[in-house]
Amino acid sequence: KTLSSSQIRQMFLDFFQEKGHAIEPSASLIPVDDPTLLWINSGVATMKKYFDGSVVPKNPRMTSSQKSIRTNDIENVGKTPRHHTLFEMLGNFSVGDYFKKEAIAWAFELLTSPKWFGWDKDKLYMTVYPKDTDAKKYWEAVGVSPDHIIEIEDNFWDIGQGPSGPDSEIFYDRGADFDELAPDDPENYPGGENDRWLEVWNIVFSQFNHTPQDTYEPLPRKNIDTGMGLERVVSIFQHARTNFETDLFLPMIKKTEAFSDHKKYGVNKQDDVAFRIIADHARAITVAIGDGALPSNVGRGYVIRRLIRRAIVNGQRLGINASFLYKLAPVVGETLKSYYPKVLEQREYIEKVIRSEEDRFNETLADGLKLLHDVIADTKAESKNEIDGPTAFKLYDTYGFPYELTKEEASEVGLDVDRQGFEVEMHKQKERARNARSGAKSMGVQRDLLVKVKEDSEYVGYDTLDVKDAKLI
Ligand code: ATP
Ligand code: MG
Ligand code: MG
Ligand code: MG
Repeated sequence: KTLSSSQIRQMFLDFFQEKGHAIEPSASLIPVDDPTLLWINSGVATMKKYFDGSVVPKNPRMTSSQKSIRTNDIENVGKTPRHHTLFEMLGNFSVGDYFKKEAIAWAFELLTSPKWFGWDKDKLYMTVYPKDTDAKKYWEAVGVSPDHIIEIEDNFWDIGQGPSGPDSEIFYDRGADFDELAPDDPENYPGGENDRWLEVWNIVFSQFNHTPQDTYEPLPRKNIDTGMGLERVVSIFQHARTNFETDLFLPMIKKTEAFSDHKKYGVNKQDDVAFRIIADHARAITVAIGDGALPSNVGRGYVIRRLIRRAIVNGQRLGINASFLYKLAPVVGETLKSYYPKVLEQREYIEKVIRSEEDRFNETLADGLKLLHDVIADTKAESKNEIDGPTAFKLYDTYGFPYELTKEEASEVGLDVDRQGFEVEMHKQKERARNARSGAKSMGVQRDLLVKVKEDSEYVGYDTLDVKDAKLI
């Protein structure tokens, strides 16, 4: 079957609706009442209130396609076939209702029934937690052959405290054409490092309470939460080599080709990475800005800024020198309009936000890149392996390069960046701003001006926040 992404999303939701689940809308990427989370990063992240018992859902069975952002995957984007910053997680949830047996039987039915996905069961591999003999038994009961059930010690979902339990992940065998590793490589198995087996679905059986005393007590009411990456499933249906050759990404890639007068997608590996990064980041910033995020130097805003600037630097690699990213926003809106019509409705606003950030960065970009490339050449000529802190700080402060961007550019050519030296410069600048401010205290208007400047240049990388992208929460 060849289906469009919107048909596939709908098929998942229809299936679980038929099994008595209420369809929950895709919530905003910006968490509500949850200071522990920078972005919604999974379906279950929006349902914490049901799983911790503070709110009782009308229906204990729910299903959703949830937009999610994972900053821990930024550097994977474009390099692996399967990682995005923004992706949609399809999921089904049971709040103290059905458990392992039903979750497994329904997953198998959705994936293999000709009425639904209709995938060949021989292409599927199920990983289980070794001690979870129930999961193994239920997979066998629905017809999975024992040699397609793989025990993996890591299959235990645990964030240190609270609900936890084993999980079972489903891998799709894309065939020998997709082998990245030699047959005898120890990582060459479903669940290992070989791209041949694509992880599509994670089913979490949350059955224990991980106590502060570090014991695991059985939960009186057990829960199911699952996450299936829509873009990965679409790549299988659309026979795409990676997630990017699908109807969710190709329109942005085509548009980017048009902005670059000579580069084409699919010709050169390095250029392809740039095309994919641009398509991915255009999606993430468009949807996140539509949800109310704005570029800034702190928290979520810093992520948006970093994504925009990273996309622009990759545009440079393709020979695109003028502002272009904002023109991808309506293309993104078009690819998502069946399920997210708001994105297109907000296009003018979103374009404006991206464009002003883009114009601002473009003013200093060429000079910043020149400085960076000169410094890289010097560093290499002196046989050093690290870009010094003051340079990284100058790139940040004068040329608008997020620290991580400098670090990535450096690592492309095998260099490190002196993070500590960077922090020292940052600290010095804060001191200068503080002193200037206390001196300006009596100066009324001027003081306000300085305070504003200081806020604008304050740096708090998102990775310095105490927020981690935990697995599936
Ligand atoms: P991977 O091992 O491929 O990084 P994961 O094990 O980190 O994935 P989970 O936390 O299990 O992912 O999330 C559930 C599902 O969500 C995954 O099976 C996958 O289909 C999808 N998914 C997770 N991270 C991403 C991402 N960055 N981009 C696209 N899809 C993702
Ligand atoms: Mg991951
Ligand atoms: Mg995984
Ligand atoms: Mg997983």
